[in-house]
Amino acid sequence: MSVAFLSLGSNMGDRLSLIQQAVSMLGNDNNIQIAATSSFYETEPYGKKDQPWFVNAVIAIRTELSPIELLRACQSVEAKLGRDRKKEEHWGKRPIDIDILFYDDLIFSNEILTIPHKEVHKRAFALVPMLEIKSSYIHPVLKKDILELHEALEDPEDVFLYGTISGSNVI
Ligand code: ATP
Ligand code: CA
Ligand code: CA
Repeated sequence: MSVAFLSLGSNMGDRLSLIQQAVSMLGNDNNIQIAATSSFYETEPYGKKDQPWFVNAVIAIRTELSPIELLRACQSVEAKLGRDRKKEEHWGKRPIDIDILFYDDLIFSNEILTIPHKEVHKRAFALVPMLEIKSSYIHPVLKKDILELHEALEDPEDVFLYGTISGSNVI
């Protein structure tokens, strides 16, 4: 059994409900158990600024799925919630985005998947919710924990507490 950390974000439609639906759909997958959920945060768009603010959260899951199978499971939930990459700009508006931040202590990269996520250490919207769940997790490439990565952010985008997801927020 592996532990993975997933980042969820939405900046279209009912953002909170879309994230809640995504968490519940992931939890309904027989091969995925939700182990912890962060609070929700409202966050300033990262990279491409001229678009609505996001709601973001991070969850920890336990799974027997391989990293690639987990990516497929995340993409299937995204598609069911109306995500259509063909109609999107890079880093633009989307109803739901699910990224794999970490998978155990794995370091892996191919054409379709990079773990740890290549930008996680630069993103307040991923590090702040992750702090709630496991601040002591050590980034396997950078060898720094989440607290240290968060403290090292230069000019982070704004991240405000928005609400709480019921359930455990620590793993
Ligand atoms: P970013 O990855 O910078 O947050 P994005 O989420 O907007 O950008 P997407 O269009 O959702 O980008 O995904 C582009 C591709 O990224 C996906 O098709 C997927 O194959 C690939 N990818 C690589 N590493 C990961 C990862 N760790 N989690 C999710 N997708 C990944
Ligand atoms: Ca993303
Ligand atoms: Ca993505």
